[in-house]
Amino acid sequence: MIRTYLKYIKNLVMTEPKKNIISIVGTTGVGKSQFSIDLAQAINGEIINADSMQVYKKLDNITNKHPIKERAGIPHHVMDHVNWDEKYFIHRFSKEANDAIKDIHSRGKIPIVIGGTHYYLQNLLFNNKTIEGAPSDKNEQANEIQLTEEQVSILDGPVDRIFETLKTIDPVISEKFHPQDRRKLRRALEIFYRTGEKPSTIYHEQKIEELEESSLRYNTLLFWVFSDPEVLKDRLDKRVDTMMESGARSEIEELYEVYEKQDPKPDCGSGIWQVIGFKEFLPWLDSKGDESVNDKTRKLLFENGIERMKIRTRQYAKYQVKWIRKLLSVELQKEARFNFKYGGKLYLLDATDLTKWQENVGKIGMEIARQFLANGPSAVTIPQAPEHLQDIIPKEDFFSNFKSNKTLGSESNWKHYECSVCKDKDGKPLVAVGEASWKIHIESRRHSRSVSAGDKKRKHEELIKQYSKRKELSKTEKDDYTESK
Ligand SMILES: [Zn+2]
Repeated sequence: MIRTYLKYIKNLVMTEPKKNIISIVGTTGVGKSQFSIDLAQAINGEIINADSMQVYKKLDNITNKHPIKERAGIPHHVMDHVNWDEKYFIHRFSKEANDAIKDIHSRGKIPIVIGGTHYYLQNLLFNNKTIEGAPSDKNEQANEIQLTEEQVSILDGPVDRIFETLKTIDPVISEKFHPQDRRKLRRALEIFYRTGEKPSTIYHEQKIEELEESSLRYNTLLFWVFSDPEVLKDRLDKRVDTMMESGARSEIEELYEVYEKQDPKPDCGSGIWQVIGFKEFLPWLDSKGDESVNDKTRKLLFENGIERMKIRTRQYAKYQVKWIRKLLSVELQKEARFNFKYGGKLYLLDATDLTKWQENVGKIGMEIARQFLANGPSAVTIPQAPEHLQDIIPKEDFFSNFKSNKTLGSESNWKHYECSVCKDKDGKPLVAVGEASWKIHIESRRHSRSVSAGDKKRKHEELIKQYSKRKELSKTEKDDYTESK
């Protein structure tokens, strides 16, 4: 009761309306930066970088920083500030990006986040609470309640006793975990000891809270600048060639000078060293001090580097599209519960034909942003994708069968199923938790092996029984015979 009341007060007093944010996603080289500048100028925005390579100082070409002279004076945050010998982490990004958002909002402007590194973006846009996390929060709040000696001895005792105790105080939650899952059973029982509340009740309340709250931190408008993959492939290849002509080569050499001096050599899977366009040129860079390598070979090594850089760029673009479709869209679709009142709709802009950029990207994007900012996320009247690209964005029915465990009523899946033929490693009857895993079990090879082994055994036992019956019978017959005699 008290908790419900407090929650009510908290909602009344502390809930501020969510602020607006715009995010632009899309593959590398598709024109996100260009669009972000146009947008920032039109709506009074500032740009926040969410690309893990563009945070590093200099190297403007190989990290694809939008040229300063083409930025139209729009401030860019979280960019170009990390030394090469530093490793940049998500926590630092999170802090810097959130500080920038606050700062931009405080000046009455709109933050525009350009995604490159997906988990950075995900972390920034969504507020993901985990079920597992919450009971321990409650646990912390109630830490003053000391455990009795008996309670401690139960918690530290055999798992069977923990299970039996939990079953008596909260039969519902006891069925949620496997009877041998000591860690989870113990935690559930400890929550009860420390809070005096049934873990299943706490779990239920928390589910309700999750369903009531959107996971978006801000009112979020998302743009996906999209290009047909075949067209993009050519564009990416050409871009690598242009980069090489406009200074990438000397950047790579500068980076190599630092790389070479380090002992041991830096790991090309971390820090700035993972940038596409460094590792690929290492054979060429290494050959420069080697007198046994002639100019022709050296030239080949360089061309080979370009080829590999192109391949890796294409792979990266493919991976980015996959992430947008499979992960980002699924996460966003959960906002359907709130009729997208905090935004969360992904608007696809067709950047395939660069000669129609203004028409297909600039104008439409600007109009969507204008509607969103003027009258809120629900006010946008423009469709999420142009007619011919409707299939790219996952459809509603794609999600209708999408089973989330974050629904109420999942408690009905908390049930133990004991197999009558299979045994666990301790020789106890095997237990499956939930109907789904029980179904999997009874269709498993393990189970059918146990069944057929059981059948053989039974047949064998029947044979023995029949045999002894016959013996018995013949004995009676004999007795009959003797008796009748
Ligand atoms: Zn079985």
